[in-house]
Amino acid sequence: MSILLPTSTAGSLPKPSWLAEPETIWSAWRLEGEALIEGKQDALRVWLHEQQQAGIDIVSDGEQTRQHFVTTFIEHLDGVDFTQRETVKIRDRYDASVPTVVGAVSRKNPVFVDDAKFLRQNTTQPIKWALPGPMTMVDTLYDAHYKSREQLAWEFAVILNQEARELEAAGVDIIQFDEPSFNVFFDEVNDWGIAALERAVEGLNCETAVHICYGYGIKANTDWKKTLGSEWRQYEEVFPKLQQSSLDIISLECQNSHVPIDLLELIRGKKIMLGAIDVATNTIETPEEVAATLRKALQFVDVDKLYPSTNCGMAPLAREVARGKLNALSAGAEIIRRELKA
Ligand SMILES: [Zn+2]
Repeated sequence: MSILLPTSTAGSLPKPSWLAEPETIWSAWRLEGEALIEGKQDALRVWLHEQQQAGIDIVSDGEQTRQHFVTTFIEHLDGVDFTQRETVKIRDRYDASVPTVVGAVSRKNPVFVDDAKFLRQNTTQPIKWALPGPMTMVDTLYDAHYKSREQLAWEFAVILNQEARELEAAGVDIIQFDEPSFNVFFDEVNDWGIAALERAVEGLNCETAVHICYGYGIKANTDWKKTLGSEWRQYEEVFPKLQQSSLDIISLECQNSHVPIDLLELIRGKKIMLGAIDVATNTIETPEEVAATLRKALQFVDVDKLYPSTNCGMAPLAREVARGKLNALSAGAEIIRRELKA
């Protein structure tokens, strides 16, 4: 990246109210058929424009074409029955009604490749595309077929690799895998989670990222955070092995979080997409607050490897709030760029 401190978001952005019910996740589409396809593309254009207006350097689709960061990908696969639902505890935290794996999983067609091509046609800026990580996919399903989380993750990794290679060919610069599960199942992460992720990025030449966060600002997550105590040391469990991995970028939550900033030392050498925007509050950060978080991180991250970003996706926020937070991110990064030049 030629610019210093290139800014980006973790991924999702709010959907316009004419496309889907706002300020909620898993919200139903308000259009159908051809109108829905056109509406999703228009919403993508809107958020591309918003990101550009705010001065965001690495832009994304804002996940305007998907209902949910995990299930929309799974809907396109064979071997999963969405009519057969079971209630499972996901992220070891809250009950959710999820579809069932009933046979061998496979990808019959590309899932997001046309959407990525559409984004690519609309900008010459670097683009980032998010996919769910294999472990988080496993953790959002009931498995009646493989009966092994590890084996199912491995099958998903192969499928994700097929999709990622086609996204790369479509011109995506950074492919990001969302793995909130990495903050919960530490033994599994170290046993097979990171290995599965490495299988998913096999043979890619574009940059690859893993996003590990404490989740959207929904109640189940904010309640969970209250139980984590004054120091959140979850990252400490997975950083050593991630540092050794082939992933280029690690995307993390830092703003208003109780993550001790010195844990970043454990992944020194990696590029860090640092969450400097809290997505669990409607309060818009001031540029100076963003700058203060970046300044702290620079004690442990080399300046050419710091990528200011958001803690997580902003899908559940109001559009005005998300827009304000994009502007704050951009302005905060600019404060530090100016300091570095001085
Ligand atoms: Zn997240």
